Amino acid sequence: MIDFIIVGRGLAASVIAHTLHDNTISFKIIGDTNLSNCSKVAAGIWNPIVFKRLTKSWLANELIEQLNIFYTACEKRLDKKLITQRSIIRSFIEEQEKKLWSTKANSELKEFLDATIYDNNALGLANYKIANQFGLVKQSGNLNVAEFLNATTTFFKDQLLDETFDHTQLKINSDHVCYNEIKAKNIIFCEGYLVKNNPFFKWIPLKPAKGETITISAPDLKIKEHILNKNGFLMDQPDGTFKVGATYEWADLTEEKSQKGLAELEEKLTQLINCKYTILDHQAGVRPSSSDRRPIIGPHPEHNNLFIFNGLGTKGVMLAPYFAKKFVNFYLQKETLPTEVTVERFYSLYAGEKK
Ligand SMILES: Cc1cc2nc3c(=O)[nH]c(=O)nc-3n(C[C@H](O)[C@H](O)[C@H](O)COP(=O)(O)OP(=O)(O)OC[C@H]3O[C@@H](n4cnc5c(N)ncnc54)[C@H](O)[C@@H]3O)c2cc1C
Repeated sequence: MIDFIIVGRGLAASVIAHTLHDNTISFKIIGDTNLSNCSKVAAGIWNPIVFKRLTKSWLANELIEQLNIFYTACEKRLDKKLITQRSIIRSFIEEQEKKLWSTKANSELKEFLDATIYDNNALGLANYKIANQFGLVKQSGNLNVAEFLNATTTFFKDQLLDETFDHTQLKINSDHVCYNEIKAKNIIFCEGYLVKNNPFFKWIPLKPAKGETITISAPDLKIKEHILNKNGFLMDQPDGTFKVGATYEWADLTEEKSQKGLAELEEKLTQLINCKYTILDHQAGVRPSSSDRRPIIGPHPEHNNLFIFNGLGTKGVMLAPYFAKKFVNFYLQKETLPTEVTVERFYSLYAGEKK
Protein backbone atom coordinates (compact mmCIF):
# COMPACT_ATOMS: atom_id res chain seq x y z
CA MET A 1 0.00 0.00 0.00
CA ILE A 2 1.32 3.46 -0.91
CA ASP A 3 1.06 6.47 1.40
CA PHE A 4 -0.75 8.99 -0.83
CA ILE A 5 -2.78 9.45 -3.97
CA ILE A 6 -2.29 13.02 -5.23
CA VAL A 7 -5.13 14.32 -7.41
CA GLY A 8 -4.11 17.14 -9.80
CA ARG A 9 -1.29 18.06 -12.14
CA GLY A 10 -0.90 21.80 -11.46
CA LEU A 11 1.49 23.74 -9.28
CA ALA A 12 -0.06 22.54 -6.01
CA ALA A 13 0.11 18.84 -6.92
CA SER A 14 3.64 19.18 -8.32
CA VAL A 15 4.99 20.93 -5.22
CA ILE A 16 3.28 18.38 -2.97
CA ALA A 17 4.79 15.52 -5.03
CA HIS A 18 8.36 16.86 -4.66
CA THR A 19 7.84 17.52 -0.96
CA LEU A 20 6.53 13.98 -0.33
CA HIS A 21 9.43 12.61 -2.39
CA ASP A 22 11.91 14.60 -0.23
CA ASN A 23 10.44 12.90 2.82
CA THR A 24 10.39 9.39 1.28
CA ILE A 25 6.61 9.29 1.43
CA SER A 26 5.29 7.12 -1.42
CA PHE A 27 2.59 8.36 -3.81
CA LYS A 28 0.82 8.11 -7.15
CA ILE A 29 -0.34 11.20 -9.02
CA ILE A 30 -3.67 11.08 -10.86
CA GLY A 31 -4.42 14.07 -13.05
CA ASP A 32 -5.36 15.40 -16.42
CA THR A 33 -3.53 18.58 -17.41
CA ASN A 34 -6.25 19.49 -19.91
CA LEU A 35 -8.86 20.24 -17.27
CA SER A 36 -7.36 23.48 -15.93
CA ASN A 37 -5.05 26.06 -17.53
CA CYS A 38 -4.31 28.02 -14.39
CA SER A 39 -0.76 26.85 -13.60
CA LYS A 40 0.09 26.54 -17.29
CA VAL A 41 -0.57 30.22 -18.00
CA ALA A 42 0.86 31.68 -14.77
CA ALA A 43 3.71 34.15 -15.11
CA GLY A 44 5.22 32.59 -11.99
CA ILE A 45 6.22 35.90 -10.42
CA TRP A 46 6.91 36.21 -6.73
CA ASN A 47 6.88 39.64 -5.15
CA PRO A 48 7.38 40.43 -1.44
CA ILE A 49 5.67 43.85 -1.71
CA VAL A 50 2.02 44.91 -1.72
CA PHE A 51 2.28 48.08 -3.83
CA LYS A 52 -1.11 49.51 -2.92
CA ARG A 53 0.00 50.20 0.64
CA LEU A 54 3.73 49.75 0.13
CA THR A 55 3.88 47.04 2.78
CA LYS A 56 5.45 43.61 3.04
CA SER A 57 3.21 40.82 1.78
CA TRP A 58 2.03 38.15 4.21
CA LEU A 59 4.95 35.98 5.51
CA ALA A 60 7.24 37.34 2.77
CA ASN A 61 10.50 36.47 4.57
CA GLU A 62 9.51 32.89 5.37
CA LEU A 63 7.90 32.21 1.98
CA ILE A 64 10.81 33.58 -0.05
CA GLU A 65 13.39 31.72 2.00
CA GLN A 66 11.56 28.43 1.46
CA LEU A 67 10.76 29.00 -2.22
CA ASN A 68 14.45 29.58 -2.97
CA ILE A 69 15.45 26.41 -1.11
CA PHE A 70 12.69 24.37 -2.73
CA TYR A 71 12.94 25.45 -6.39
CA THR A 72 16.77 25.40 -6.30
CA ALA A 73 16.61 21.78 -5.12
CA CYS A 74 14.09 21.06 -7.93
CA GLU A 75 16.46 22.64 -10.47
CA LYS A 76 19.12 20.14 -9.41
CA ARG A 77 16.74 17.18 -9.33
CA LEU A 78 15.12 17.98 -12.69
CA ASP A 79 18.29 19.34 -14.31
CA LYS A 80 16.48 22.48 -15.56
CA LYS A 81 16.79 26.20 -14.98
CA LEU A 82 13.50 27.04 -13.30
CA ILE A 83 13.88 30.26 -11.33
CA THR A 84 15.23 33.68 -12.30
CA GLN A 85 15.95 36.32 -9.68
CA ARG A 86 14.60 39.57 -11.14
CA SER A 87 14.08 43.03 -9.64
CA ILE A 88 10.65 44.52 -10.12
CA ILE A 89 10.68 48.00 -11.64
CA ARG A 90 8.09 50.18 -9.97
CA SER A 91 7.50 53.40 -11.84
CA PHE A 92 6.61 56.51 -9.80
CA ILE A 93 4.06 59.14 -10.72
CA GLU A 94 3.93 61.44 -7.70
CA GLU A 95 6.87 62.93 -5.77
CA GLN A 96 5.16 61.71 -2.62
CA GLU A 97 5.50 58.09 -3.74
CA LYS A 98 9.27 58.52 -4.02
CA LYS A 99 9.43 59.98 -0.52
CA LEU A 100 7.47 57.07 0.95
CA TRP A 101 9.63 54.59 -0.99
CA SER A 102 12.87 56.16 0.32
CA THR A 103 11.61 56.21 3.89
CA LYS A 104 10.56 52.56 3.84
CA ALA A 105 13.64 51.44 1.88
CA ASN A 106 15.75 52.83 4.70
CA SER A 107 13.66 51.33 7.50
CA GLU A 108 11.04 48.57 7.70
CA LEU A 109 11.35 47.37 4.06
CA LYS A 110 15.15 47.58 3.85
CA GLU A 111 15.57 43.98 2.74
CA PHE A 112 12.99 44.23 -0.05
CA LEU A 113 13.32 47.77 -1.46
CA ASP A 114 16.40 49.23 -3.12
CA ALA A 115 16.85 52.74 -1.66
CA THR A 116 18.10 54.24 -4.95
CA ILE A 117 15.65 56.27 -7.02
CA TYR A 118 16.54 55.51 -10.65
CA ASP A 119 16.34 57.80 -13.67
CA ASN A 120 14.02 56.73 -16.48
CA ASN A 121 16.80 55.53 -18.78
CA ALA A 122 18.87 53.73 -16.10
CA LEU A 123 19.65 49.99 -16.39
CA GLY A 124 19.73 50.18 -20.21
CA LEU A 125 15.92 50.27 -20.37
CA ALA A 126 14.50 51.36 -23.71
CA ASN A 127 10.98 52.13 -24.90
CA TYR A 128 9.23 51.97 -21.55
CA LYS A 129 6.81 54.58 -20.30
CA ILE A 130 8.23 55.48 -16.93
CA ALA A 131 6.49 58.60 -15.70
CA ASN A 132 8.82 60.01 -13.09
CA GLN A 133 11.80 57.79 -12.19
CA PHE A 134 11.49 54.33 -10.64
CA GLY A 135 12.40 52.11 -7.70
CA LEU A 136 13.47 48.46 -7.60
CA VAL A 137 12.04 45.64 -5.50
CA LYS A 138 14.65 43.15 -4.31
CA GLN A 139 14.31 39.40 -3.64
CA SER A 140 11.64 39.05 -6.33
CA GLY A 141 11.74 36.82 -9.39
CA ASN A 142 9.86 34.23 -11.34
CA LEU A 143 9.46 30.49 -11.72
CA ASN A 144 9.13 29.06 -15.22
CA VAL A 145 5.95 27.26 -14.17
CA ALA A 146 5.34 25.45 -17.48
CA GLU A 147 8.88 24.06 -17.44
CA PHE A 148 8.52 23.02 -13.80
CA LEU A 149 5.26 21.15 -14.53
CA ASN A 150 6.66 19.41 -17.63
CA ALA A 151 9.89 18.37 -15.95
CA THR A 152 7.95 17.15 -12.90
CA THR A 153 5.74 15.01 -15.15
CA THR A 154 8.83 13.44 -16.72
CA PHE A 155 10.57 12.89 -13.38
CA PHE A 156 7.58 11.18 -11.75
CA LYS A 157 6.39 9.36 -14.90
CA ASP A 158 6.37 5.96 -13.16
CA GLN A 159 4.10 7.32 -10.42
CA LEU A 160 1.69 9.04 -12.79
CA LEU A 161 -1.76 8.21 -14.15
CA ASP A 162 -2.63 10.65 -16.91
CA GLU A 163 -6.42 10.62 -16.54
CA THR A 164 -9.45 12.34 -15.10
CA PHE A 165 -10.13 11.36 -11.50
CA ASP A 166 -13.65 10.02 -11.05
CA HIS A 167 -14.69 10.78 -7.46
CA THR A 168 -17.50 8.21 -7.56
CA GLN A 169 -14.89 5.45 -7.81
CA LEU A 170 -13.17 6.35 -4.54
CA LYS A 171 -13.77 3.86 -1.72
CA ILE A 172 -13.06 5.24 1.71
CA ASN A 173 -12.16 2.97 4.63
CA SER A 174 -11.06 4.02 8.09
CA ASP A 175 -7.35 3.32 7.49
CA HIS A 176 -7.02 3.44 3.70
CA VAL A 177 -8.68 4.45 0.43
CA CYS A 178 -9.03 2.51 -2.82
CA TYR A 179 -9.24 3.99 -6.27
CA ASN A 180 -9.63 1.26 -8.90
CA GLU A 181 -6.46 -0.84 -8.43
CA ILE A 182 -4.68 1.68 -6.23
CA LYS A 183 -4.68 1.23 -2.47
CA ALA A 184 -3.32 4.15 -0.45
CA LYS A 185 -3.33 5.22 3.18
CA ASN A 186 -4.42 8.74 2.18
CA ILE A 187 -5.54 10.92 -0.68
CA ILE A 188 -4.81 14.63 -1.18
CA PHE A 189 -6.85 16.75 -3.58
CA CYS A 190 -4.99 19.54 -5.44
CA GLU A 191 -7.63 20.35 -8.04
CA GLY A 192 -7.50 24.15 -8.07
CA TYR A 193 -10.84 25.82 -8.88
CA LEU A 194 -12.20 22.46 -10.12
CA VAL A 195 -12.61 21.42 -6.50
CA LYS A 196 -16.18 22.63 -7.14
CA ASN A 197 -16.70 19.17 -8.77
CA ASN A 198 -15.28 17.27 -5.79
CA PRO A 199 -18.14 15.86 -3.67
CA PHE A 200 -15.89 15.64 -0.60
CA PHE A 201 -14.56 19.22 -0.59
CA LYS A 202 -16.89 21.28 -2.77
CA TRP A 203 -18.02 23.18 0.33
CA ILE A 204 -14.69 24.99 0.79
CA PRO A 205 -15.26 28.69 0.07
CA LEU A 206 -13.30 29.48 -3.08
CA LYS A 207 -13.73 32.82 -4.77
CA PRO A 208 -12.08 32.00 -8.10
CA ALA A 209 -10.70 34.79 -10.28
CA LYS A 210 -10.24 34.36 -14.00
CA GLY A 211 -7.02 35.83 -15.38
CA GLU A 212 -5.80 36.50 -18.91
CA THR A 213 -2.34 37.24 -20.29
CA ILE A 214 -0.84 37.88 -23.72
CA THR A 215 2.55 37.06 -25.17
CA ILE A 216 4.03 39.68 -27.48
CA SER A 217 7.05 40.16 -29.64
CA ALA A 218 8.56 43.68 -29.40
CA PRO A 219 12.11 43.76 -30.80
CA ASP A 220 12.73 47.36 -29.65
CA LEU A 221 12.09 46.70 -25.94
CA LYS A 222 15.14 46.34 -23.69
CA ILE A 223 14.42 45.00 -20.21
CA LYS A 224 16.67 41.99 -19.60
CA GLU A 225 15.73 40.09 -16.45
CA HIS A 226 13.56 42.69 -14.80
CA ILE A 227 9.81 42.82 -14.37
CA LEU A 228 8.00 46.03 -15.16
CA ASN A 229 5.05 46.73 -12.87
CA LYS A 230 2.47 49.45 -13.41
CA ASN A 231 -1.18 48.45 -13.18
CA GLY A 232 -0.05 45.08 -14.60
CA PHE A 233 3.26 43.47 -15.46
CA LEU A 234 5.55 42.92 -18.40
CA MET A 235 8.37 40.36 -18.29
CA ASP A 236 10.77 38.95 -20.84
CA GLN A 237 10.73 35.20 -21.46
CA PRO A 238 13.55 32.78 -22.28
CA ASP A 239 12.67 32.85 -26.02
CA GLY A 240 12.93 36.66 -26.23
CA THR A 241 9.17 37.30 -26.22
CA PHE A 242 7.36 39.22 -23.44
CA LYS A 243 4.48 38.18 -21.25
CA VAL A 244 1.94 40.86 -20.29
CA GLY A 245 -0.70 40.49 -17.63
CA ALA A 246 -2.92 40.07 -15.96
CA THR A 247 -6.65 40.65 -15.77
CA TYR A 248 -9.01 39.83 -12.88
CA GLU A 249 -12.57 38.72 -13.57
CA TRP A 250 -15.03 37.20 -11.10
CA ALA A 251 -18.24 36.84 -13.14
CA ASP A 252 -17.11 34.82 -16.18
CA LEU A 253 -15.34 31.80 -14.72
CA THR A 254 -14.73 29.94 -17.97
CA GLU A 255 -11.25 29.43 -19.36
CA GLU A 256 -12.27 31.08 -22.63
CA LYS A 257 -10.07 33.94 -23.86
CA SER A 258 -12.26 37.05 -24.07
CA GLN A 259 -12.30 40.18 -26.23
CA LYS A 260 -12.82 42.17 -23.03
CA GLY A 261 -9.66 40.65 -21.52
CA LEU A 262 -7.68 41.30 -24.67
CA ALA A 263 -8.76 44.94 -24.79
CA GLU A 264 -7.82 45.40 -21.13
CA LEU A 265 -4.39 43.87 -21.70
CA GLU A 266 -3.74 46.08 -24.72
CA GLU A 267 -4.76 49.09 -22.65
CA LYS A 268 -2.27 48.06 -19.93
CA LEU A 269 0.38 47.66 -22.58
CA THR A 270 -0.10 51.18 -23.94
CA GLN A 271 0.60 52.44 -20.42
CA LEU A 272 3.75 50.35 -20.18
CA ILE A 273 5.59 50.69 -23.49
CA ASN A 274 5.89 53.06 -26.44
CA CYS A 275 7.07 50.90 -29.32
CA LYS A 276 5.53 48.53 -31.85
CA TYR A 277 4.49 45.03 -30.79
CA THR A 278 2.80 41.97 -32.22
CA ILE A 279 0.51 39.72 -30.18
CA LEU A 280 1.65 36.11 -30.52
CA ASP A 281 -0.55 34.37 -28.00
CA HIS A 282 -3.45 35.00 -25.61
CA GLN A 283 -4.13 32.77 -22.59
CA ALA A 284 -6.75 32.43 -19.85
CA GLY A 285 -7.00 30.47 -16.63
CA VAL A 286 -8.96 30.50 -13.36
CA ARG A 287 -7.10 31.18 -10.12
CA PRO A 288 -8.22 29.18 -7.07
CA SER A 289 -8.53 32.14 -4.72
CA SER A 290 -10.23 31.62 -1.37
CA SER A 291 -12.78 33.83 0.36
CA ASP A 292 -10.21 35.03 2.94
CA ARG A 293 -7.27 34.98 0.47
CA ARG A 294 -5.35 32.32 2.39
CA PRO A 295 -4.57 28.73 1.35
CA ILE A 296 -6.92 25.96 2.46
CA ILE A 297 -5.06 22.91 3.76
CA GLY A 298 -5.76 19.88 5.91
CA PRO A 299 -8.04 16.95 6.61
CA HIS A 300 -11.68 16.39 5.74
CA PRO A 301 -13.95 16.90 8.78
CA GLU A 302 -15.25 13.30 8.69
CA HIS A 303 -12.64 11.23 6.83
CA ASN A 304 -9.21 11.76 8.33
CA ASN A 305 -7.43 10.16 5.36
CA LEU A 306 -8.81 12.69 2.86
CA PHE A 307 -6.85 15.96 2.56
CA ILE A 308 -7.03 19.19 0.62
CA PHE A 309 -4.27 21.53 -0.61
CA ASN A 310 -5.91 24.44 -2.38
CA GLY A 311 -6.64 28.18 -2.27
CA LEU A 312 -3.25 29.25 -3.66
CA GLY A 313 -4.96 32.16 -5.42
CA THR A 314 -2.71 34.72 -7.08
CA LYS A 315 0.45 33.66 -5.27
CA GLY A 316 0.87 29.93 -5.78
CA VAL A 317 4.58 30.12 -6.56
CA MET A 318 5.39 31.78 -3.24
CA LEU A 319 2.89 29.93 -1.05
CA ALA A 320 3.13 26.32 -2.24
CA PRO A 321 6.67 25.32 -1.11
CA TYR A 322 6.29 26.73 2.42
CA PHE A 323 2.84 25.26 2.99
CA ALA A 324 3.65 21.89 1.40
CA LYS A 325 6.41 21.64 4.03
CA LYS A 326 3.91 22.60 6.75
CA PHE A 327 1.56 19.91 5.44
CA VAL A 328 4.24 17.22 5.60
CA ASN A 329 5.23 18.30 9.11
CA PHE A 330 1.58 18.04 10.06
CA TYR A 331 1.36 14.56 8.54
CA LEU A 332 4.64 13.15 9.83
CA GLN A 333 5.33 15.11 13.01
CA LYS A 334 1.71 15.84 13.95
CA GLU A 335 2.56 19.56 14.05
CA THR A 336 -0.57 21.71 13.95
CA LEU A 337 -1.28 23.55 10.72
CA PRO A 338 -1.19 27.38 11.03
CA THR A 339 -4.63 28.68 11.97
CA GLU A 340 -4.71 31.03 8.94
CA VAL A 341 -4.53 28.12 6.49
CA THR A 342 -6.11 25.09 8.12
CA VAL A 343 -9.30 23.86 6.46
CA GLU A 344 -10.71 23.52 9.98
CA ARG A 345 -11.62 27.21 9.88
CA PHE A 346 -14.37 26.24 7.40
CA TYR A 347 -15.69 23.06 9.06
CA SER A 348 -18.89 24.88 10.01
CA LEU A 349 -19.67 25.19 6.27
CA TYR A 350 -19.45 21.42 5.90
CA ALA A 351 -21.75 20.91 8.88
CA GLY A 352 -24.16 23.43 7.32
CA GLU A 353 -24.11 21.65 3.97
CA LYS A 354 -24.96 18.29 5.57
CA LYS A 355 -28.11 19.60 7.29
C1 LIG B 1 -3.30 34.66 -15.78
C2 LIG B 1 -2.71 34.14 -14.50
C3 LIG B 1 -1.48 34.63 -14.08
C4 LIG B 1 -0.92 34.16 -12.90
N1 LIG B 1 0.30 34.65 -12.51
C5 LIG B 1 0.86 34.20 -11.36
C6 LIG B 1 2.13 34.68 -10.94
O1 LIG B 1 2.77 35.48 -11.64
N2 LIG B 1 2.64 34.20 -9.76
C7 LIG B 1 1.97 33.30 -8.99
O2 LIG B 1 2.47 32.90 -7.94
N3 LIG B 1 0.75 32.84 -9.37
C8 LIG B 1 0.19 33.27 -10.50
N4 LIG B 1 -1.04 32.82 -10.88
C9 LIG B 1 -1.75 31.93 -9.94
C10 LIG B 1 -1.24 30.51 -10.02
O3 LIG B 1 -1.36 30.11 -11.34
C11 LIG B 1 -2.04 29.62 -9.07
O4 LIG B 1 -1.84 30.03 -7.73
C12 LIG B 1 -1.64 28.16 -9.17
O5 LIG B 1 -1.33 27.80 -10.47
C13 LIG B 1 -2.74 27.24 -8.64
O6 LIG B 1 -2.32 25.92 -8.81
P1 LIG B 1 -3.25 24.69 -8.47
O7 LIG B 1 -2.43 23.49 -8.74
O8 LIG B 1 -3.88 24.86 -7.14
O9 LIG B 1 -4.46 24.79 -9.53
P2 LIG B 1 -4.51 24.39 -11.09
O10 LIG B 1 -3.39 24.96 -11.83
O11 LIG B 1 -5.89 24.72 -11.54
O12 LIG B 1 -4.29 22.83 -11.08
C14 LIG B 1 -5.30 21.89 -10.82
C15 LIG B 1 -4.91 20.62 -11.50
O13 LIG B 1 -5.82 19.59 -11.17
C16 LIG B 1 -6.27 18.96 -12.36
N5 LIG B 1 -7.58 18.41 -12.07
C17 LIG B 1 -8.64 19.03 -11.51
N6 LIG B 1 -9.67 18.19 -11.37
C18 LIG B 1 -9.25 16.98 -11.83
C19 LIG B 1 -9.85 15.69 -11.97
N7 LIG B 1 -11.10 15.43 -11.57
N8 LIG B 1 -9.11 14.71 -12.51
C20 LIG B 1 -7.85 14.91 -12.92
N9 LIG B 1 -7.22 16.10 -12.82
C21 LIG B 1 -7.91 17.12 -12.28
C22 LIG B 1 -6.24 20.08 -13.39
O14 LIG B 1 -6.24 19.65 -14.72
C23 LIG B 1 -4.92 20.75 -13.02
O15 LIG B 1 -3.83 20.02 -13.55
C24 LIG B 1 -1.61 33.22 -12.09
C25 LIG B 1 -2.83 32.71 -12.53
C26 LIG B 1 -3.38 33.16 -13.73
C27 LIG B 1 -4.69 32.60 -14.19
